[in-house]
Amino acid sequence: MGTDTNPFNSLQEQIDEAAVYLDVGDDVIERLKHPERVLETNLTIERDDGELERFKAFRSQFNGDRGPYKGGIRYHPGVTRDEVKALSGWMVYKCATVGIPYGGGKGGIVIDPDEYSETELERLTRAFATELRPLIGEDRDIPAPDVNTGQREMNWIKDTYETLENTTAPGVITGKAIDSGGSEGRVEATGRSTVIAAREAFDYLGEDVSDATVAVQGYGNAGWIAAKLVAEMGATVVAASDSSGGVYAEDGLDPVAVKGHKRETGSVVGFEGANEEITNEDVLTLDVDLLIPAALENAIDEELAHDVKADVISEAANGPITPDGDAVLAEKDVYVVPDILANAGGVTVSYFEWVQNRQRFHWSEERVNDELETIIVDAFDALTDTYEENDLASFRTAAYVVAIQRVADAYEQAGSFP
Ligand code: NAD
Repeated sequence: MGTDTNPFNSLQEQIDEAAVYLDVGDDVIERLKHPERVLETNLTIERDDGELERFKAFRSQFNGDRGPYKGGIRYHPGVTRDEVKALSGWMVYKCATVGIPYGGGKGGIVIDPDEYSETELERLTRAFATELRPLIGEDRDIPAPDVNTGQREMNWIKDTYETLENTTAPGVITGKAIDSGGSEGRVEATGRSTVIAAREAFDYLGEDVSDATVAVQGYGNAGWIAAKLVAEMGATVVAASDSSGGVYAEDGLDPVAVKGHKRETGSVVGFEGANEEITNEDVLTLDVDLLIPAALENAIDEELAHDVKADVISEAANGPITPDGDAVLAEKDVYVVPDILANAGGVTVSYFEWVQNRQRFHWSEERVNDELETIIVDAFDALTDTYEENDLASFRTAAYVVAIQRVADAYEQAGSFP
């Protein structure tokens, strides 16, 4: 990634930028810029060869004014305390942007999971779940998948929690497999909202996403589904990348075939349907209509932003553009649909999963997708209304204006205690 910008500073700058347009006191804004609490813990597990190894892990509970803390768990060597704090804050404002009754949280373990066996990862995940047990719960804090975690880890966490609590509580975690209480449409939800939001942005600009050329950075859960769904809308996906590099085809890649190649070989690189291999940076600076960053934070910094040629960016990843990069893109009239709206499909369908778990009732995929569509379109409309009313510089600031107001209202309506 291009920069070492601290994502927690980015979050705080984004809040400050929106606060100017809000009638919310500085003291309340100050409160909304810091997590309520952060757990930092060390997990020690036995490797398959009998050696012990220690791993640092975090869970940040940023704000619970609008409901239980909610947010994923990331396994990555680059996880830091500040990254987890930032990601937990973005969850607060994401849930508020789309109007679902949650606060924000996030967790992470500093690990490269590729270096560990499945049994080692299971021991580590269960150790983390045991450590988290007093903090989490269906009405307290509800984790979910993030980078390098998925249904498998969620199922382990659910089982550990339920065993220790001697109960059934599927709503303690979302992103589970269907037979373990998961929701239809959850795996696709992040990519789906990213392209619904992109479609709305093109429509707002008087254009049609079906005519767009698209580049996708990051070909994991969020990125590959976004590529598949935007191609189904008629757009042409010309480039895709992952941590090993990128591929380009002027006439379009078949996103499903690219995924098949990645499944077999571990990377998009070497895909036989591509004309050219390109770098990660090339993918971000291609002359396309729509760019979908779907990897990690800080992919587009100030320097790289000068070279971005896309007209619209829909952020599948959390925090892929630094505040300095944002300023350059705004000057260049590049429309950025911010992460806290674009990728909110993941947490929205997690919310549907939790509702189904509490109802002990399973929704059809059609119902899930219809309700998701309504929530994202309504949130996009609220964002553009605020953008126009306040003559704002970016969609991001508009989203924060909407979201911070909602969180501040919930805080103030609660009154003071004790
Ligand atoms: P994932 O682990 O499934 O995929 C991540 C992808 O990014 C992989 O293909 C990896 O190779 C690639 N990548 C890593 N470093 C890269 C680099 N330098 N250049 C290009 N590609 C790189 O993770 P995911 O769940 O798809 O998450 C991706 C992003 O979307 C993260 O920012 C995450 O927080 C965000 N997000 C995910 C969800 C979800 O439901 N999964 C929801 C909201 C937001």
